[in-house]
Amino acid sequence: MDRNKRDNNSQKDYSQMRFGQNDVLKGAASRYRRRKISRSGIAVILCSVLFIAVIAASLWHLGTRIVDEAAAKLNYEEVETLFAPEDKTPPPELFDKISVDSSASVKGDLILVNYQYPYAFPETEDHLVNIYDNKTDNYGVSYSNYLLDGHVLSVLNSVTGELFEVTGDKCVLIRSAYRSLADQQSIYDSYLADPNYGEQYVNDYVATPGYSEHHTGLAFDINIRLADGSYVLVRDYENLNTLSSILVSHGFVQRYEDAKSNITKIKNEPWHYRYVGIPHSYVMTKEHYCLEEYVEYLRALWEGVNTDSDVDAEVGTMLHVDAAGEISTCTEDTLPSEGYLIYYVKKSDEVKTEVKIPKSAKSYTVSGDNAGGFIVTVTLSEVTLPELKTLP
Ligand SMILES: [Zn+2]
Repeated sequence: MDRNKRDNNSQKDYSQMRFGQNDVLKGAASRYRRRKISRSGIAVILCSVLFIAVIAASLWHLGTRIVDEAAAKLNYEEVETLFAPEDKTPPPELFDKISVDSSASVKGDLILVNYQYPYAFPETEDHLVNIYDNKTDNYGVSYSNYLLDGHVLSVLNSVTGELFEVTGDKCVLIRSAYRSLADQQSIYDSYLADPNYGEQYVNDYVATPGYSEHHTGLAFDINIRLADGSYVLVRDYENLNTLSSILVSHGFVQRYEDAKSNITKIKNEPWHYRYVGIPHSYVMTKEHYCLEEYVEYLRALWEGVNTDSDVDAEVGTMLHVDAAGEISTCTEDTLPSEGYLIYYVKKSDEVKTEVKIPKSAKSYTVSGDNAGGFIVTVTLSEVTLPELKTLP
């Protein structure tokens, strides 16, 4: 019984011992596997690195071949362009910058003087000369004390000389020219007091003192006095078309037409001419702009404001008159090489206003417009504009 028990115990111990041996064996196997895994892991990593290196080398070789083939397809100049260093040289400057006195925007051949914009009387009247003392014998003047801007008078001498050459006529009579503030006040008062004229006539034809174009010395009224001493109305003069064309070709415009009276606020005055200079008289006549419209048109072009013209204006648009008299628009990027350029500059709030002048200009003038800006006229090349038929 005891022996059995002991045997049972022995068996039991033996089995326990066997269990212990198994545990030892299991631990050794596990260590062996870990060693095995770390060795194979290193091998895998090494293989991966080798594999990636081989793939990368292959791709690099392939990429190089593609680039080489692409470059081979380009011609020499294209390759040069692709690999040339970036050109940092700025584009050549086409314009010089000058500065003008901002206060001069009330002076010049293109100033607007109308019911809205009064004339800024200068401190001196040095620019005015006596007509009678300085005229030729190709025309007459009503009063010996009439004055006109000196340059305008010399142009008027040319106009009447040409009229005499073409027609043999010496019939132009200057019946009004420069008017001081007191002159205009006197004219205004006398028309207002005369029952034959009165308030309506004054409203239609006579400018308020200070707002008359005659203050500028750039305007005059004419009459036609025939060889027999009789007078005809300007509109009835048989050579009016010739006279008008000659006036326009020398820089004058007929300032007040019925068709524009809603803008000028002055009725038709076929006797009143105003000097604006060339090429402005040509453009205004050809495009049928009165001075108010013309100044506004140039301003709108320069400021890129859409106008009712057939051109797309962008900021900095200028008017161009070519040698054939064709009128178009251009910008700094499409600067022409001949003819005239005309453009607007807004008056600065500072003492000086900066004005850009093309380096290619042969000559230029800057005139105020008396409405907050300047108008620049650039001569790129000497041009004789075609004659315009001014009347239908
Ligand atoms: Zn007048």
